[in-house]
Amino acid sequence: MSPVIRLDDIRKTYQMGDQSVEVLKGVSLTIERGEMISLTGPSGSGKSTLMNLLGCLDRPTTGGYWLDGQDVSQLSAAQRARVRGGKLGFVFQNFQLLSRTSAIDNVLLPLEYSGTSMDRREARRFAHSLLERVGLESRVDHEPSQLSGGQQQRVAIARSLVNRPALLLADEPTGNLDSKTSREILDLFRELHRNEGLTIVIVTHDPNVAASAERVIRLSDGLVVEDHRIEPGSLPAPEATRC
Ligand code: ADP
Ligand code: MG
Repeated sequence: MSPVIRLDDIRKTYQMGDQSVEVLKGVSLTIERGEMISLTGPSGSGKSTLMNLLGCLDRPTTGGYWLDGQDVSQLSAAQRARVRGGKLGFVFQNFQLLSRTSAIDNVLLPLEYSGTSMDRREARRFAHSLLERVGLESRVDHEPSQLSGGQQQRVAIARSLVNRPALLLADEPTGNLDSKTSREILDLFRELHRNEGLTIVIVTHDPNVAASAERVIRLSDGLVVEDHRIEPGSLPAPEATRC
């Protein structure tokens, strides 16, 4: 089976007036199905730029990107939007939920753009099961303003799963949460990863958050300067696997 992500000598140059600034300077890496990865590095190292490329929000200046076996490096904006809807789930620092919209309707929203084959009742049942999976079965009709930050991020995580993505991308997902809630959200990612084999990339500048993954990729000045696996012994003990 092909890897979820293969990057081959990715470069990204921004044009600033008559100056060009090379922000990614040749990034090559492979991410296999079922990996849980943190992408880390100091401010300005190129994390967001790389995330935007991985998420097909932008495309590289040069280099190859294969997502789930498909070459996506030269797609048009419309083609990239289709890839995002079909293959990617996104979780953001500021949740990005629709206000005055119930949790379940927020979760259902991406389905409306992806042309699901589920009928309305089936879709609602599936969205409900996702909210259960993130521990919010008693909050399905609550609106974002009636939920805590951690609960809002749980809704966003349920929403990111509704199209059954091949890859979940989370950009500083705990950046707006206190440390206890951050740990709970990271535990939820780990559980989704362990129990359902979800492939997750978490972008963070926070070393504690980075250490919650199984593999840490560190960027510095537009290059991968470190790529290592964390010993299983240093992770919290796994819970019993749910079937
Ligand atoms: P990080 O997320 O690691 O903080 P970024 O990817 O946001 O890093 O930025 C890396 C570098 O690229 C920074 O020096 C930033 O100023 C520059 N940069 C990012 N986006 C743009 C852009 N649209 N135009 C010009 N320069 C940019
Ligand atoms: Mg950034």
